[in-house]
Amino acid sequence: MVTVLLDPGHGGTDGGAGTAPYLEKTRNLEVASKVRDYLLSTFVVNVIMSRTTDKTVSLSARTNLANQQGVDYFLSIHHNSGTPSARGYEDFTYINISDTSTSDRIRNAIHTEVVNRVLGKYGLPNRGKKKANFHVVRESNMPSALLEIGFVSNTSDQRLIANPAFYNDMAVAIGEGVAKGLGLVRKKSTAATPSPSAPSIAPSKTFYRVQVGAYKERTNATAMQTRLKSAGFPTVLSSSNGIYRVQIGAYGNKDNATTMERRLRSAGFPVFVYQV
Ligand SMILES: [Zn+2]
Repeated sequence: MVTVLLDPGHGGTDGGAGTAPYLEKTRNLEVASKVRDYLLSTFVVNVIMSRTTDKTVSLSARTNLANQQGVDYFLSIHHNSGTPSARGYEDFTYINISDTSTSDRIRNAIHTEVVNRVLGKYGLPNRGKKKANFHVVRESNMPSALLEIGFVSNTSDQRLIANPAFYNDMAVAIGEGVAKGLGLVRKKSTAATPSPSAPSIAPSKTFYRVQVGAYKERTNATAMQTRLKSAGFPTVLSSSNGIYRVQIGAYGNKDNATTMERRLRSAGFPVFVYQV
């Protein structure tokens, strides 16, 4: 199975840039954890983290881990800092590799997903695809990249960093980019077969309906259906009283509904479950 090492930058005694609540080490771990959850819930893939807690890990320990485990891809996640006006997203591969390298190809896939799914939506500037002599991209033996999600030193970027939807969308974008770049296989739904129409065989039984959104505009509902479909979730559109509801299904077993709810949430979708 393909193995990805996610490397949340800094940690422990090394806080990275910024100060709480925009302390880099904390925010790096938050994004990396969301990327891990999205990858594991959506694709057939193994994920290793260089840290899952606030602990000190040296740069060489990070790349040694990747090299010893023979992982297929190394992805380091950071936040930037600079002058107060500097802001935006950028990503790096190692300075001494060609633009046609595997590292660049995978990084480009991530970059494209971030541009398409996040930057325009949140008005975050694109600082471009770059190269640098960072330890983690130089000393890792496998394809690698380092992402700078946004600036902890800029007030506009801080507002995004504080917005959970931004990180959710960023995690989906990074996960989809990694998956495209590595050719990961999307998981088939493991939940019960959706039966979104009203249950006719046992009308008195309680069902749990999993709904992702309700919209006044049909186009907004179908746009959400498209996003869900590309994330591997089949949906049904139902409408009543002028409201279009995007639904994943109705489950007789509450645990199945809860499992689907969790999968959707970790994939970054707004979701709620209600009894019918
Ligand atoms: Zn950093």
